[in-house]
Amino acid sequence: MGEFELIRRFFDRAPNRALLGVGDDCALVRPDAGLELAITTDMLIEGRHFLPDAAPRALGHKSLAVNLSDLAAMGAAPRWALLALGVPAAEPKWLEEFAAGFFALADRFGVELIGGDTTRSPLRTISIVALGEVPAGVAMYRSAALPGDDVWVSGELGGAALGLKHPEIEAAAQRLHQPEPRVELGERLRGLAHAAIDVSDGLTGDLGHILERSQVGATLDFERIPRPAALRSLGHRELERDCVLSGGDDYELVFTADPRRRDAIAALSAELQLPLSRIGTIHAGDTKLVVHGPDGVPMAYRSSFDHFGDAK
Ligand code: ADP
Ligand code: MG
Repeated sequence: MGEFELIRRFFDRAPNRALLGVGDDCALVRPDAGLELAITTDMLIEGRHFLPDAAPRALGHKSLAVNLSDLAAMGAAPRWALLALGVPAAEPKWLEEFAAGFFALADRFGVELIGGDTTRSPLRTISIVALGEVPAGVAMYRSAALPGDDVWVSGELGGAALGLKHPEIEAAAQRLHQPEPRVELGERLRGLAHAAIDVSDGLTGDLGHILERSQVGATLDFERIPRPAALRSLGHRELERDCVLSGGDDYELVFTADPRRRDAIAALSAELQLPLSRIGTIHAGDTKLVVHGPDGVPMAYRSSFDHFGDAK
């Protein structure tokens, strides 16, 4: 199977919203008047982000999910994606499964694959560009947190890191391999939240980006941060702390909002049937993050994750 046969067979789908999709030198899109385009890219590399025997369907899902998560964190509605794929050989079974995982997620949110690039590569590499739309002026910047804001998080944290450590815990492994991008939440937080970020590298590190960009500090209450029951029941306090505070790959949204928005956020939580938990407060002053433990004493936690470090 040649390059063009591969593209035609697995990735060429007629778009609806885009003016032009796969098959020409460029795709063409026309954003609606009054909207801004949100654009992001994320790369997954074999040996670094996934193992050679990783399930291709889950990979197709995850590679798109991490990009949709970035759009959600800006409050953008996902619209289009481009896929640059490097594979050692054209293996139909692998490609079919990968495409099935990719398109199942894409179809759920009306995302159209409108182009990409395909090449041979000694290691599998998956690089996706995702484009979304957001009404002018309402995107949620990391720099928008204000002193006095509440700090909120969606869902639970620590599940994906637990899945890495304990792949036999099924729900945790699912979190790691098939994260759910909080697309509806991101869109609904427009005008409600100030700053937002998705938790890809761990809560303390990612919230730290908001603090840096906004030039504010924060305190968190460790006990208020929701975590999987399986993590608590292990009874391993250090692992629990590391997974909840420093574990990556959960793709929940952390956001800040005025305390007067508490009722509106609770109502949104009920409507989306997604837990939204108030876990701390933003302060004026230096960009320090203090996490209070169960006894009220500040906890020590692992510093944020570095993509050029050896941890992952
Ligand atoms: P060009 O040489 O102009 O870059 P290519 O020959 O690389 O074009 O690709 C042909 C068409 O197929 C282009 O429209 C490109 O966007 C699309 N394409 C290539 N690889 C993929 C892929 N993996 N997924 C989706 N579209 C792809
Ligand atoms: Mg090309």
